[in-house]
Amino acid sequence: GELSNRICAEQAIPDMPAIVKELIDNSIDAKCTIIRVTLTNCGIGGIEVYDDGVGIHPNDYQKLCLKGATSKIATIDDLKTIKTMGFRGEALASISKLCKIEIITRHKDLEIGHKLIYGDDGIIEKITEDASRAIGTTVKVTNIFNNVPVRLNDLSNKSKIYLKKIIELVQAYALINIDKRIMLTHIEGSRRDELINSLPAQSVLEQAANLFGRDIKKSMNEFYGEVDNVKYYGYISKPNCAIKFKKDFQYCYFNKRIIGIPIKIKRAIASLYKDFSMKAPIYIICFEAEEGYDCNLTPDKTEVYIQNEEVLAREIRIKILDLCKENIQ
Ligand code: ADP
Ligand code: MG
Repeated sequence: GELSNRICAEQAIPDMPAIVKELIDNSIDAKCTIIRVTLTNCGIGGIEVYDDGVGIHPNDYQKLCLKGATSKIATIDDLKTIKTMGFRGEALASISKLCKIEIITRHKDLEIGHKLIYGDDGIIEKITEDASRAIGTTVKVTNIFNNVPVRLNDLSNKSKIYLKKIIELVQAYALINIDKRIMLTHIEGSRRDELINSLPAQSVLEQAANLFGRDIKKSMNEFYGEVDNVKYYGYISKPNCAIKFKKDFQYCYFNKRIIGIPIKIKRAIASLYKDFSMKAPIYIICFEAEEGYDCNLTPDKTEVYIQNEEVLAREIRIKILDLCKENIQ
């Protein structure tokens, strides 16, 4: 019923950065090459995400913001081999319960776009033609948490903290999506700040250098391998690396999804660097697999169950150990 939908929505969208994350995921799933995130007054005034993806077909307009409406998977079997960022059909439905959603989209097969305004029941309130829209989608979210007073309060008290979180989030997306241009703009009054403007790059390391400084390239060891059909590659700071980076520079991805580093792998690396009496390393670790994993553990999908994580952790530890020995000799 109405109440349980609202409870689910509040859980699916815990804070403002979660809205940005869901909208970026949808743009990625639409196979875009450009994503432009625009925040007004730290997001309090609105969040807009523009993409040049495939757009939304008019047949889907009505159900877009209804719970369970996903165009991405159809069967229970599909759950095992999810290739898209989204699959629950929950984000837009949840956001529409807690905010106002307006979408301007043009499907790749159509000559004209439409502007759609949704009500808090997820039903379209208004459709108008938009002749100027290029192929792709813009989702605008305003009145954020207007009907959740506690969160609205929190949002205005901690807007700078949320802005920082969003900057870090967009950086994390830019780092792994090296085939895309990803931008973040902040508008405050008459000010317009381009906070992130990342171009496609040759490699994740190259993108790290673009985002966080060129020094990073000579500070990192590269490693890669495969265990039971799980491929991994990554970069970890050399034990004798003198350059200072922010302590929480630890990125982990699974099939390009931002995740927290799996605990066994985290422990393996930590214990290794401790054995060498070295300070905690910075790293980027990316995993890729067709199956043998589950990313449906938490609402934000930042936790992944990987089959054979233990074997993976052991192998990665050995690889990194060898690199450390080379550096120290
Ligand atoms: P999910 O991503 O799990 O399918 P969402 O609620 O995030 O669910 O989105 C619902 C549907 O809206 C998607 O399945 C997709 O068909 C469509 N959609 C949302 N955003 C976009 C976008 N930027 N480009 C194209 N289609 C989109
Ligand atoms: Mg989605």
